[in-house]
Amino acid sequence: MKSPSNLPPLHLETLTVSAGYEPASASGSAKPPAYHSSTFVYPSALAAKRLHEAFFDHADNGATGYIYGRLGHPGLDIVEKRLAVLDGAEDAAIFATGMAAISAIMLANLGPGDVVLHSQPIYGGTDMLLNTELIRLGISAVGFPDGCDPDVMRKAADEALGKGRIALVWAETPANPTAAIVDLEEVARLIDYIEKQQEHRPLLGVDNTFLGPFVQSSLTFGADLCMTSLTKYAGGHSDFLAGGVSGSAGPIARLKTFRTLVGSTLDAHSAWLLARSFETMHLRTERAGDNARAIAEMLAAHPAVASVTYVRFKPEGSPARLAFERQCKGAGSTFSFRVRGDEAAAFRFLDALKILKVAVSLGGTETLICHPATTTHYAVARDRREALGIDDATLRISVGIEHIDDLLADIAHALEAV
Ligand SMILES: *Cc1c(COP(=O)(O)O)cnc(C)c1O
Repeated sequence: MKSPSNLPPLHLETLTVSAGYEPASASGSAKPPAYHSSTFVYPSALAAKRLHEAFFDHADNGATGYIYGRLGHPGLDIVEKRLAVLDGAEDAAIFATGMAAISAIMLANLGPGDVVLHSQPIYGGTDMLLNTELIRLGISAVGFPDGCDPDVMRKAADEALGKGRIALVWAETPANPTAAIVDLEEVARLIDYIEKQQEHRPLLGVDNTFLGPFVQSSLTFGADLCMTSLTKYAGGHSDFLAGGVSGSAGPIARLKTFRTLVGSTLDAHSAWLLARSFETMHLRTERAGDNARAIAEMLAAHPAVASVTYVRFKPEGSPARLAFERQCKGAGSTFSFRVRGDEAAAFRFLDALKILKVAVSLGGTETLICHPATTTHYAVARDRREALGIDDATLRISVGIEHIDDLLADIAHALEAV
């Protein structure tokens, strides 16, 4: 949807309500229908031939339309256009889950002998993909434990250069669940350095899940590919899974071809739910962010709480704080905190909660809380986990959009059980 020529450019909050959908394309339906069809009827045999030429050989023959649901469908086009607008990208590819999107980025761009240089900590699924499946294909991974310290990052890059060609730099910021920040300007300098050393510029992929498009635009900070688990804030209701990647047309076309072959296309029903959820994303993001701030402040002042890793609490003037202020428009609504005590104290707190739900995942309308050491980070060895700041007293909270007074009262009551 273009801005009328006599008006200034439209805001994201306006575009997200209608971008990617023209009512005239569906009998004037004000809202996009759910296109529940696995295949599409060609108008003629010649039109079918043209369509295949356009899809597989990118022939510029003017053919438009759909072939088969795995290759693309109308609902997918709507949400891809919407995500591209939100991320300020040329194009976007949407997958069945966030991990399908991450796997596609890695498998479509890496080959035997390549190295992935990544921030730490990273999402457990990404960690396992790198350290179990990709390693089997001869692709290695090296992590940098501090994403704001250029010396630490340079040292990891040198180690990675010793192993092979660095084809991908992967940054997750803020990180799950510690809210560690990766300074994307430092990463851009690191990539310049790597390019000089190996005469090949690695791609930069950013996992933007923790903040989402309204709070962080990774592409404007040099990312080639911006990955978001749309299961979280974009879906926003904890009722379906999806994953998106935004970027320039060439790399996104490559991902779409890969997606067709492995069959990880988002289905019609989830695409319909996602299109609807995008419309309220900015309202949910804002309310959850306000609630999170109030809860983080309450926890930080509570005697039963040992520490809170909310991004806004990073010390004024520290490298992480400066990077946060440069690259984020808000602090999001997922963070972690530690109760005073051990696993048993953390469990007593969880079991005393009445409104907050004990579950993994984040970004839904409801407030969720979990104990990472025994759930999301169960598979990470204790010493590695503790080095990343996740111990037996750590809890991760994803704040929802309920009334703040009810959330504060529930947490205060449950903290008495610690
Ligand atoms: C949930 C999550 C993913 C994976 O997304 P799925 O939709 O669950 O596959 C990737 N990265 C981060 C930071 C996440 O929180």
